[in-house]
Amino acid sequence: MSMPNWDKIDAVKLREYSLMSDIYLSRLSIHRDALGCRDTKCQDENHILHTKNLYNSICKCFTDASKNVLGISKSGKFNCKPGFNDYVKELHDVARKRFVAWREANKPRDHNNPFFREMTVSRAKFKLALRFIKRHENQIRQDAIADALCDDSDGNFWKEIKKMSPNNIPLPTSIDAATGKEEVVHLWEITLKKPS
Ligand SMILES: [Zn+2]
Repeated sequence: MSMPNWDKIDAVKLREYSLMSDIYLSRLSIHRDALGCRDTKCQDENHILHTKNLYNSICKCFTDASKNVLGISKSGKFNCKPGFNDYVKELHDVARKRFVAWREANKPRDHNNPFFREMTVSRAKFKLALRFIKRHENQIRQDAIADALCDDSDGNFWKEIKKMSPNNIPLPTSIDAATGKEEVVHLWEITLKKPS
């Protein structure tokens, strides 16, 4: 499935996306029995069906929210590669035009033919740029975040990032009968060491 180009989406749109997702998620109907079932090898048909449905509905909430807030590009696809628009798009457009011109010139294969030469040169440039963004994907993503932070005079972007940080989610104070950090850790130790 195609994905939105997340590194190109500004803080305002991200906030809208988050709100939209909340709205869709709040409309889900939840089957309490299925969700409350603790049997990891559960074979109850109803539980399985409701859990599958819930999973699909949750996914649909997020894709609907992204379609709604972020829109879909003209080709009907999101462009998922970070840096594509900055580094590759123009070269890709040129390569496509040169290819069409070459095809319309009846696909000459002589190296001295200008149509053939322009087509192969533009394609090589495009492929080089594509390889560049694939190799530097992490750096390009980080640059996009850094750019957003620099543009962020009112600090909204940073606030959003902080909201997304998992440190802000409060930890449960008790799991089963264990209460407090040490007891919970101990419980995990026992659970993980248990042969399955
Ligand atoms: Zn069950």
